[in-house]
Formats: sequence, C-alpha cells, structure tokens
Amino acid sequence: MMTDGERLAALPGPLLAWYDRCAREMPWRTQPGPYRTWVSEIMLQQTRVEAVREYFARFMDALPDVAALARAPEEQLLKLWEGLGYYSRARNLQKGARTVMERYGGVIPGTAEELRKLPGIGEYTAGAIASIAFGEAVPAVDGNVLRVLARVLNRDDDILDAGVKRRWGEELRKVIPPERPGDFNQALMDLGATVCLPNGAPKCGECPVARQCLAHACAREQELPVKTAKKPRRIQERTVFLLVCRGKLALRRRPDRGLLAGLWELPAAEEHLEDETEAARQLAAWGLSAPDRLERLDDAKHIFTHVEWRMRCYAARTAEESPLFAWVDRKELETAYALPSAFQAWRKEIAARMR
Ligand code: SF4
Repeated sequence: MMTDGERLAALPGPLLAWYDRCAREMPWRTQPGPYRTWVSEIMLQQTRVEAVREYFARFMDALPDVAALARAPEEQLLKLWEGLGYYSRARNLQKGARTVMERYGGVIPGTAEELRKLPGIGEYTAGAIASIAFGEAVPAVDGNVLRVLARVLNRDDDILDAGVKRRWGEELRKVIPPERPGDFNQALMDLGATVCLPNGAPKCGECPVARQCLAHACAREQELPVKTAKKPRRIQERTVFLLVCRGKLALRRRPDRGLLAGLWELPAAEEHLEDETEAARQLAAWGLSAPDRLERLDDAKHIFTHVEWRMRCYAARTAEESPLFAWVDRKELETAYALPSAFQAWRKEIAARMR
C-alpha cells in the first residue's frame, strides 16, 4: 500500500503528460506574463473560464499594463468589469496596481510572499501568479485542487476548513516539480475543472491519475469531498423602478459599504410593493409623478454569495427628473455607467424605453 506522500509524489508524471496533450487553451496561457496572469486569476475567482475570455480581451486592450490599470478612472474600470460581478475584486486589483507603482517601481513582485502583501491577493492567487508567471515552486490550492486531493488521498476532512487547505497545500509543496511548477498547478486545476468533476460526476475513465487515486480504488469517489453545509442565503425583497424621463434613465449610487458598494443601480424600495398604487406612492416620495400608467414588468431574482434578491419591477415615464438620481442617456449608459448584472433581466426593456 502506498503512503499519502508516495501517492502525491506519483502525480506529476502522468499529470504533466496529460496536461501537454489536453491543457485548455486560454489567452492568458498562450501569452503569459505576470500582469496577464494576475488579471486572469482575479477574473476567474467565482467566474467560469468561458465567461472570462471576452472580458479579459477587452480589459487587456483598454488597460494593457499595470501602469494603465493604476491610473484608470474608477468608472472605466467598473465599466470593463460590468457583468462579471464581485466588483470589489476590480477595485482591489486597481489598489494592488497602485501599490506596485508606488512601492515596487512598477514591477510586479516575483515571489508568493511579496505578492500576498498586495490588496486582493490571497494565498491561492499569490501561489498561482508566483508559480505560473515566475516559476516559483509554490502550491496554488483552489476548490478544484482540493476536490482532486480529497479523492486521490481518499480523505474525509472538510475541505471548507482553512486549516485543511493550508495543510494539504504544504503536502503538495513537497512534490511540485521545480522545472514546471506553473504547469503542475494548472494541470491540477484543469483536472478538477474538466475530469474530476464535482457533484458526484468524475470521469474516472478519462483520468490520467486514476491509478494513483485511492477513492477510485475504494469506489468512494462519489462520496468525496466532504463539505460542511453552508448557511442558507438571506432572502431580500425589493421593488426596483425603471424610470425614464425624456429618454434618460434614473440611476442611483449604492452606499460605499456592503453589497455592490458604490455601484449604480435602478432606484429601489427595500420591500415588495403590492400594486401600482403603492408603487406610485413610492414615486411621490421621490418627488416624481408619472403621467401614464405604471407598468409592472416581469419579476427577477439575483443570487449573491450570502443574499438573494427577489425583485419586482415597475416601469414608468416620469414628467420630471429628480435630483435624488443621476439621469443618464443611452450613450452614457453604454460607455460610462456600469449597471450590475443583478439588473440584467430588464436590459431589453431599458433599451426599448430609452429610445
Ligand atoms: Fe477524480 Fe476519478 Fe481521477 Fe480519482 S480517478 S482523481 S475520482 S477523476
């Protein structure tokens, strides 16, 4: 029987041979570099590769290096991020770029230890950038990698436990091939994303490390990994308003702290307004009147990490603008104002009503 250490030490050979044949093609891989790796890793947090491709290309065209990112106006940055969600990632990325300009003379530091000192860069991202862009033999342990390790080593530890992540990372560190640390880390991530799939669906028949995998040998791959149950999301009821005055849409800025901090949104009441009378009362509270009927549009919901918005929507043409809101025309909405994807459901309605 192999020890866990021997099992891990047997991974790099077959894994790298598989990676050479099957690595997923990604723009940040074909043309690597610290800045590109950094931006891609931040975009990929909580977002699928396919969704990131287009954003990444646009971002690189507009802000091709760390200096350009550091001096970009916030509205431009948020516009480039519009629809990706988790906007604090974009803001931290820019804070990190500014720190690189001020403290490191514009040169991104080349070790995981230094990278961790930058805003928005945690253990995983530091390991990914240091190994992929600088060839440092450090682990980069994300959810995909934890799932693979839990199965290969047939372990029942809770992979959401930060201590487990740290300890497994240290075990992995000992077997990272010094000549190809970035490829090894990416091969593990790819294996988790395309073969050792979550929710009881691993494709063990296609797996390059099936011979090393203890869970597979014990027919336990469907039971692993173990994750503690998450707390249920808090449901928040809202009524949003699509208000247009002479072709201009009403937007308001969210508070500087909390969900979607500092971003633009459609004006909203923090409850479900039952009917048009209640909705008209809310309009009046904002100092607005609608000469035509208020129209109820389709409901929508949006799921954040800890909160779920259940939204009703009323649309109206208003007779006047209220100083409580910014009133933006079509061009401004397309180029300067980032509207979070929580409001995506009414995008067509917005476009139609701003004509
Ligand atoms: Fe995952 Fe199956 Fe490969 Fe084991 S053999 S690592 S369970 S895909």
